[in-house]
Amino acid sequence: MKRLFSIALALLFASTALADDHEGAEEGAKLKELIARVVDAYGGESLTGITGYRIAEKFLTLTVGQSHSPTLQEIAESSQVLNMDMANKRSAYDTWFYGRDGGFQGNTISDGETGTAVNHRTKKIGEAGNADPYVFAGGTMRTSDAVLVYELSKTADKATLGEDAMYQNRKHHVVTMPFPSSPDLNLYIDAETFLVSKMLRNNPQLGALDYVFSDYRKDKGITYAGSTQFSIAGAPNLISKQRKIEFNPQFAEATFAVPEGFEAESERTDTSEMAATKISDRVYHVGQGNAYTLFIDTPTGLVATGGYAGLANRLEYFREQSDNFKPLSYQVVTHHHSDHIGGLAEALSAGAKLITVENNVAALTAGVDPAPSTADFLLANNRMTLGDGRNRVEIYEVSTSHSSGYLVVYVPASKTIFIADHLGSPFVSGTPVATQGTVTMLAALDELGIDIDRISTAHSARIFSMKEMRDSVREYSANECLNDRPVCALAAN
Ligand SMILES: [Zn+2]
Repeated sequence: MKRLFSIALALLFASTALADDHEGAEEGAKLKELIARVVDAYGGESLTGITGYRIAEKFLTLTVGQSHSPTLQEIAESSQVLNMDMANKRSAYDTWFYGRDGGFQGNTISDGETGTAVNHRTKKIGEAGNADPYVFAGGTMRTSDAVLVYELSKTADKATLGEDAMYQNRKHHVVTMPFPSSPDLNLYIDAETFLVSKMLRNNPQLGALDYVFSDYRKDKGITYAGSTQFSIAGAPNLISKQRKIEFNPQFAEATFAVPEGFEAESERTDTSEMAATKISDRVYHVGQGNAYTLFIDTPTGLVATGGYAGLANRLEYFREQSDNFKPLSYQVVTHHHSDHIGGLAEALSAGAKLITVENNVAALTAGVDPAPSTADFLLANNRMTLGDGRNRVEIYEVSTSHSSGYLVVYVPASKTIFIADHLGSPFVSGTPVATQGTVTMLAALDELGIDIDRISTAHSARIFSMKEMRDSVREYSANECLNDRPVCALAAN
């Protein structure tokens, strides 16, 4: 009886497996046909056979979570030109951003193995953070439906078919595809036109990222959207003003050439591993990548500043390095920007109070999950001192072009300050490049009249000297899009 039963069971499972296989094969065939139709809608072999493309686009950029004051959001502009010469494995990416801190021009050139960052204003070249165009220009590639379909055609065997969905009252097929150095992308494909209406990507911190395509047009028989609107968690973030894509364009050699006669920057700081800089027995600067925290030991407990996500890991590393296991009593919040409050929930669960200014309380309450209560905040009220004598920490409220209510932390015993977003460099040495933020922060620090030797920051492992900050500001000139590269023509339109 038992034996018969197991045979029956085995047969049952076998037939289920067969049904699954059958269904799987059917799904696979359906997906294959769908991808073929999408590729056809975008130009078929004209698209799959491209050897290069150029995307030139300009957006209005809403300063979501990055405004000067939490009560008013500004509108900035960003322009990009991406030259992808796949036939010769080279790429060039030009960017121009213009906002309240002035203009920023960026240029990365890659031959596939070496990436070079070119600063046309300071006439310096340095090693780029990455040589892979999918990393340094992936954001621009993802704004193009035609590029997504081209990538889909290359990775069709790794794509999956989801449930059909209604989008803007039209039936859509949903295909999930891998994309290099990104979470998977979900393409919403119109069931009648087989054009991609939108792409959805989920960011673990920010939520749903929607790329909505419209104004389809053609170049060399290839369809592409002339407009892409980008939203974060349902709120508009990038508003398309201009975009043009050329397929198999004539590339000028100069586009990919590192300019001659530019001065070389020093090597890049290796920030791949968590590291601590011991500034004194009581003060440690800890972090990795672009996220650093300053930990200061005081008689009443630890004071920390620098609130990027991952704060708990940095605290743990500080404890390992310093053998200091005092509780985290205070977390000084530099400013209200969303990226700098990502670790505040971790500070709260470590038992810290958040030191901030009144104007930022609402933004922090809304932006930290779970939301802090009134009792979690301590207001700096222009200035505040924690501890006394040589063991004191001073906190000063300043206003700069970057942020209105901004807190600078100062440790008088080691003449150290901590600031975020006003000074930085990815390189081991050399004068950091100033922004309007650097200029206005230096003016604010001079006004405080405090004696500063060391400047630690939220984004650089490097500790700067006051002389380096002054040199940086001295070399500052108002940013204009300087070069004759096409991104400047785009910006001027
Ligand atoms: Zn900021």
